[in-house]
Amino acid sequence: MVSENFGTGRPLFPFALGNYKNFFTLFTFEVRTVKILVQKFGGTCVSTPERRKLIIKRVQEADEKGFKTVLVVSAMGRNGAPYATDSLRLLALQEYSDVSLRELDLIMSCGELISAVVVAAALSNMGITSRALTGAQAGFLTDGRYSEAEVLDCQPTGIVELLQRNEVPVVAGFQGIDPMGEINTLGRGGSDITAVILGAALEADKVEIYTDVSGVMTADPLIFKGARVIQQITYGEIFQLAHEGARVIHPRAVEVAMRNNVNVVVRNLEDPETGTLITGESSLKGGGYSTRSRRAVTGIAHYTNLVQFLIQLKDPDPRREQEIFQSIGEAGVNIDLISVFPLMKAFTVKDEHSFKVENILNKMEIPYTMEKDCAKVSVVGVGMHNIPGVMAKVVRALNEHNIEIKQTGDSNISISLLIKQQDLHGAIKTLHDHFYLEDQLPI
Ligand code: ADP
Ligand code: MG
Repeated sequence: MVSENFGTGRPLFPFALGNYKNFFTLFTFEVRTVKILVQKFGGTCVSTPERRKLIIKRVQEADEKGFKTVLVVSAMGRNGAPYATDSLRLLALQEYSDVSLRELDLIMSCGELISAVVVAAALSNMGITSRALTGAQAGFLTDGRYSEAEVLDCQPTGIVELLQRNEVPVVAGFQGIDPMGEINTLGRGGSDITAVILGAALEADKVEIYTDVSGVMTADPLIFKGARVIQQITYGEIFQLAHEGARVIHPRAVEVAMRNNVNVVVRNLEDPETGTLITGESSLKGGGYSTRSRRAVTGIAHYTNLVQFLIQLKDPDPRREQEIFQSIGEAGVNIDLISVFPLMKAFTVKDEHSFKVENILNKMEIPYTMEKDCAKVSVVGVGMHNIPGVMAKVVRALNEHNIEIKQTGDSNISISLLIKQQDLHGAIKTLHDHFYLEDQLPI
């Protein structure tokens, strides 16, 4: 049932664990006695010497518990930080607007590499012998699509050799090498994908995602202070939350975790006691036979900077309708929240793509209106399809606060609403209240 929600429209991840069974013979010790932990540290975790000390602490703690650790790191800091992905990209683009995707991938891949070297140096200086690895050195083979590559294969023999020598590998996340030897990046948030693939390839006990918040929360704490940590969440729900904009973990990382049964925990580097365990439904606490007691909504996600297009036709015209959507697709624009009626079509696009849609519609002489500064807020919960009236509750919650609903969309575990961006905080707060998300209800 949950797998039905994994339609991302992208080719399925072709990675299969079977390829790696033989490679474990490389271990000179009995495979099952080696406990491996993959620890991924996000941009803020690697950004200061103080935080890097905490990384060392996490590695030492894992060592004390008998784990061999493999680290995956993101580029340092957020937007504007000197070695953050966007800063490196801008470095190439600010003076010279014409830089190829190949070159951009090369420069963007440096951010993670810089982090890997610095973190490996921090560990080695504390007496924990460590070595930084590029994505290629860590065995990541990608499909050649610059800036949004898929990982085709992962052969982490180099990592295994380091583990055998009791060295800690520190892998630059977000990247791999294609069959032509070109460096590809995996897209925003791609280090999560690196970490989970390594978790699967190494048959790790667990993948720990360390970040700047205390786990997967009921809403983005940056927007809504009342958000609470969700202790345990299913792959299906976190996938849908991530897909609907909760950027705490990459949706493709969740997909890989689910397909390969990788246990993932999301934690705060500075407060690792709490956190969120991401598991399959069968491992949920208090299983039982009844699904009625389940909560309807687990969390709320959002996207900002959306533009809604409304197209009004005088007569039904299926050929023209097909032409419109085909041209938009060919321009590489993703559309969302699509409602099609014989005389009216509505859909949304990201702000940065709206000019492409305008150009297409103007050229085809199709009358339209557009509404800028929209946001999409989505409530997500695996229990919602068992509980009637969830939509009514959503509508009531927003009506009570005079928040206009411009469009809706749904899957069997989510309901999405398009609203004005200025209403976003109010919408999240009222939905959070109406679905009692401040309480830790049974899953
Ligand atoms: P990292 O560099 O560690 O990968 P990200 O910025 O990619 O960090 O992800 C962490 C951020 O995700 C948090 O700072 C938070 O603002 C945001 N976020 C959005 N939705 C959620 C959510 N539901 N739970 C937790 N964090 C969320
Ligand atoms: Mg991230």
